[in-house]
Amino acid sequence: MTDFVIPPAAIASLTVQGSSARFPVHRIYCVGRNFAEHAKEMGAEVPARGTPVFFMKPADAVVPDGGAVAYPTATTDLHHEVELVVALGRDADGEIALTNALDLVFAYGVGLDLTRRDLQALAKEKRLPWDISKGFDQSAPTSTLVPAAQAGELSTQRLWLEVNGELRQQTLLSEMVFGVAEIIHELSRLFALKAGDLIFMGTPAGVAALQRGDHFRAGVDGLAEFSGHIA
Ligand code: MN
Repeated sequence: MTDFVIPPAAIASLTVQGSSARFPVHRIYCVGRNFAEHAKEMGAEVPARGTPVFFMKPADAVVPDGGAVAYPTATTDLHHEVELVVALGRDADGEIALTNALDLVFAYGVGLDLTRRDLQALAKEKRLPWDISKGFDQSAPTSTLVPAAQAGELSTQRLWLEVNGELRQQTLLSEMVFGVAEIIHELSRLFALKAGDLIFMGTPAGVAALQRGDHFRAGVDGLAEFSGHIA
């Protein structure tokens, strides 16, 4: 057994439908501008084929199954972005071909890519990194994961988010610019993908502010649903 000079941090993890065992989170990759209408509302261009926009969050940004999510420090404009979440169950051995990409998928879920929108706007304006606007503590509330075998094929299911009972965001998964296989292929050219990686697939139009006390409910029809509140 390895001796550590300080106790190692706990492994961040998510619950799995039909299992008492948990999914250990290795990395969180996120896709930006993956829905044309959201790119438009952000005043951004939809990326050309072969060049999706990626950023990351730390593994321990996950908030398993929602619940109480802390309003982050250093912002007055916390935004919701509801997204399909893909969980990898196998390591990639280098670059993964499009045709083999889905073999890596262990499960699917739904999550929120919480964003300090004011700090992101500043970062864009000053050409600074997005980390502090995207990769903060508790910035990735995520549902129970549904094993791919139980999820069936993803095609035109509806991805949606309600805040205080009001529908804020909804789209069909078929509206994604880059599909799951394409994103896994592109990520595998840039990073050594591992079992335990999560991919947040990008958000549709309708992003808006969350306030303290707001209650959210998010889902993909026929797949997963979860809820929580901003504490
Ligand atoms: Mn996002």
